[in-house]
Amino acid sequence: MVVDKCIDMMHFSFFGDFRVNIDVQLLINLQSVDLKIAMLKGEIDAVPGEIEELRQEFLKAQKDLQDLLDEMDQDEQKRKSLERTVEDEKEALAKSKLKIPEVKTNKEYTALLSEIENMEKTIYDTEDEILNLMELMEEKTTLKKENEGVVKRENEHFNKLKDQKEKELAEFNGGLEVETTKREQLADGIKRPLLEQYERLKQARNGIAVMNVVESVCQGCHMTIPPQVVAEIMTGEEVINCEHCNRILFITP
Ligand SMILES: [Zn+2]
Repeated sequence: MVVDKCIDMMHFSFFGDFRVNIDVQLLINLQSVDLKIAMLKGEIDAVPGEIEELRQEFLKAQKDLQDLLDEMDQDEQKRKSLERTVEDEKEALAKSKLKIPEVKTNKEYTALLSEIENMEKTIYDTEDEILNLMELMEEKTTLKKENEGVVKRENEHFNKLKDQKEKELAEFNGGLEVETTKREQLADGIKRPLLEQYERLKQARNGIAVMNVVESVCQGCHMTIPPQVVAEIMTGEEVINCEHCNRILFITP
């Protein structure tokens, strides 16, 4: 708000019966350029972070897809291993069945039958496990297609916004160059001690060294300015500082 106000007022040096001191007017102009420069620098500094934030979104989508692909790989390994188990068990089962006619005692027979039953159960359970796993793998195949779509979209989105951000950055840099040149020219026309005072105040007062007075109140520190000082500012003859915040003052109707 303060910034807008200062920029709006930069081209006026007469306000009815009010006269803004000519040196102060130069400082108002300089301050409006300085505020633009500060804003542009802020924008320029923010761009790499903004691009990185967008890149992280894309990388997250890519990582989700990679995690899924890794999972699918593991599922495939597991399926192969389970199928090997089934094959081995079936082979062992066939061998055990061949042993049946050779059994001599009842005890051996019972033991062999129990072994066969166990193997059959293992085969049944493992095949069941394979079916469940394959169902899960099918679901993941669908999810994979969806995730691939998300990655593609995020990538396009990122590239588009990155281009946009880079274009903005070029504009900010161009603007900064223009304003910096303007600033140098303005600063050249300002009396050295006043310019130094301005620089010190700018540093100490968060970028606002020159401030207007509204209804006898300094808009920088919101303290009341005595009537005789207000009258002095209105003549525009001298550079007057706020006795509270030390900012250079001007008055507009
Ligand atoms: Zn003040």
